[in-house]
Amino acid sequence: MNKIVNLYSIRQKRYARIFFIIITCIFILNLTACQGQQKKRYEAQFLLLFDTVTQIVAYMDSKEEFTEQVNKIYDDLEEYHQLYDIYNEYDGLVNLKLINDKAGEEPLKVDRRIIDLLKFAKDVYNKTDGKVNVALGSVLSIWNHYREIGIQDPENAKLPPIDLLKEAAQHTDINKVIINEQASTVFLEDPEMSLDVGAIAKGYAVEQVSKRAIKKGFISGLISVGGNVKIIGRKNPNGEPWNVGIQNPESSGEKSNLHILHLIDQSLVTSGNYSRYYTVNGKKYHHIINPETLYPAEYFTAITIICEDAGEADVLSTAVYNMPLQEGLTLIENLSDTEAFWLLPNGEQKFSSGFQDLLAE
Ligand code: ADP
Ligand code: MG
Repeated sequence: MNKIVNLYSIRQKRYARIFFIIITCIFILNLTACQGQQKKRYEAQFLLLFDTVTQIVAYMDSKEEFTEQVNKIYDDLEEYHQLYDIYNEYDGLVNLKLINDKAGEEPLKVDRRIIDLLKFAKDVYNKTDGKVNVALGSVLSIWNHYREIGIQDPENAKLPPIDLLKEAAQHTDINKVIINEQASTVFLEDPEMSLDVGAIAKGYAVEQVSKRAIKKGFISGLISVGGNVKIIGRKNPNGEPWNVGIQNPESSGEKSNLHILHLIDQSLVTSGNYSRYYTVNGKKYHHIINPETLYPAEYFTAITIICEDAGEADVLSTAVYNMPLQEGLTLIENLSDTEAFWLLPNGEQKFSSGFQDLLAE
């Protein structure tokens, strides 16, 4: 029933990049009287945005209709990807990489989308009591460096010296990210500081792009950037909700998903310790750093957040990952229409009060 019927590249002339689109063939009998035609399930995957997999799914009447919508969403996402990129430069574009390069030197005039992300980031810092800090770049780049070396040469994998981390932590004051909205400029006051928006940018971009896509007629679909999932509308004209799985981190586990949820106009984001890590003396060190200890947070294996806004969900998944269970539970229970799922290192599962209502099973 669910078989791949086509595998081909689109838009290669324009982008000359590796990406592909898979069209799966699930025929949905449309029972709505006034729309008595069949819709098919289409799915596209792209590999080059935000250093992760982007997936778009929708039930539509034709491949052409789907491809047209996907192209618009891809173009929009690509702009956000380039603006928020801290590793690469793009011709004629002022992005976060350039802002980092000009730390302590001069303010740069930037696109509104950078100002908006950084305003959001400052708000996030305050709301999470500093647990999510996009000005943590100096510390995170040390961990990235040791992780990359440790992955390349596992025998000689090392932990960053704590003194090195502590010195870098002197340069993580988010108040030194100076945003001048009138002049549309951003300036990092401390020459040693740098931005890393890895904890918030994917969710934030997915949310903004989804809003624009809805305005352009993408009223039902799933957009996921590296597991930052935004569900738009209902799955099909029958009014069914979308099924979204929470991945089982145990790849040898019998179930590939721990839970399947029914979602409508909601976002689901997971932060976990199982996708980006390295091993030192038999112990895994992952990529979410507790700003207080300057070491990877050790409370949980994974956190999943469900709420309406994908940007909020991305923030909360990283924030709750960095706090003990009770603190996270209190935070989540005080937020309306927000649910969370905690997977503990011993395999135990904890849920916020409304989580079970979302379960499909
Ligand atoms: P993922 O990017 O794997 O989906 P997260 O949303 O939790 O997971 O973000 C983790 C990324 O955020 C890290 O790779 C790093 O770039 C950055 N980061 C790690 N710890 C923090 C922190 N305490 N505050 C802000 N950013 C962080
Ligand atoms: Mg996050």
